[in-house]
Amino acid sequence: MSNRFVELSTYDVRFPTSRQLDGSDAMNPDPDYSAAYVVLRTDAVDGHEGHGFAFTIGRGNEVQTAAILALRPYIVGRLVKEVLDDLGGLWRELVHDSQLRWLGPEKGVMHMAISAVVNALWDLKAKRAGLPLWQLLSSMHPEELVELVDFRYLTDALTPKEALELLRPGAEGREERIATLLAEGYPAYATSPGWLGYDDDKLARLCREAVDAGFTQIKLKVGADLDDDLRRMRIARDVCGPNVRIAVDANQRWDVGTAVEWVRALAPFHPWWVEEPTSPDDVVGHAEIARRIAPVPVATGEHVQNRVVFKQLLQLNAVSFVQLDAARVAGVNENVAILLLAAKFGVPVCPHAGGVGLCELVQHLSLFDYVAVSRSMRNRVIEYVDHLHEHFADPVRLRGGRYLAPLAPGFSSTMRAESIARYAFPDGPIWNPDTP
Ligand SMILES: [Mg+2]
Repeated sequence: MSNRFVELSTYDVRFPTSRQLDGSDAMNPDPDYSAAYVVLRTDAVDGHEGHGFAFTIGRGNEVQTAAILALRPYIVGRLVKEVLDDLGGLWRELVHDSQLRWLGPEKGVMHMAISAVVNALWDLKAKRAGLPLWQLLSSMHPEELVELVDFRYLTDALTPKEALELLRPGAEGREERIATLLAEGYPAYATSPGWLGYDDDKLARLCREAVDAGFTQIKLKVGADLDDDLRRMRIARDVCGPNVRIAVDANQRWDVGTAVEWVRALAPFHPWWVEEPTSPDDVVGHAEIARRIAPVPVATGEHVQNRVVFKQLLQLNAVSFVQLDAARVAGVNENVAILLLAAKFGVPVCPHAGGVGLCELVQHLSLFDYVAVSRSMRNRVIEYVDHLHEHFADPVRLRGGRYLAPLAPGFSSTMRAESIARYAFPDGPIWNPDTP
């Protein structure tokens, strides 16, 4: 009963995705999708480990990995049960540590390091419970869920009492919603057709394949050259027809005025949303863009640093879709806060995914949202990108353009040991092709 954490190990894992221009967009022309990866080990005989990671796109992954290692003293030696029984307390301890906090506060490398560790703890907790994370979260009482959330800086928009009121109706129809997810899954949209580095033929072919596979929404990267964007948007609209939703993603490329002009030029092709039109820190700018490009909706979130910025985006009606990221804010706890904020404001959550393992993680949050928080799938989709899943022990499964509910215990965050070894940077064989 007195098991303790005995190790926190980190791994710098990088995939050379830039060799094929996978993941290329207007701001990130040559990403090498990477994970600053963490494994938590205990002395329990069950042998369960907690796996988590921060996603980066290559250079700097060693900095991210070092930040995770800096959290080792907060975990190793602690009683496993004590930590896992109070993940709200552990979250506050890490995020509000006065010395670590100086590195943010609540943003950037240290916050993402906390995310990796917090998510690894949730992975371990779910494995020990024998449940996929979404079902573990869905089985928790409203009071327990509210206890996970740090309401500091939120109470002008959302109080613990309001959060409880949002969660209490979730008891009704809960089993039916779980049954629906198990039978039908959850809607996905496809980003893979629209990477900026792909030529027109590849764009058209991938659009057709996505529609044939059952996707009802795709996404195009835009923002480098307006004539190119108009041509690519026309190709995508021609191939997909009028009924498929086509979102566009500028990856923070524009100033406010440029965003407004550019989106107005694309508006005749009916973009479903415009994603990351400008700096993720510019809340007022997002509000201004949203007002001036209406009715085209604005979406953002993958680079939104924390729950406070999400609160402001919602308060100013700056976003019509909240794109939380499983590993940028401080893990499951902060994402529960963001799901609650979005529910309070009635804004659908359409999580950011792709990268390395982000689809694997974020599906659990959307499924939990459907069972216990928003209780709706209306206008809600999870991003899907079809690469690097083979490196995970419990990869996402899609059918007919929908995520199938993950069934294995845990957070689907466990990367295969062979992949960690092969893609280890800088010494793994993939980075040293001449090494026998
Ligand atoms: Mg994006």
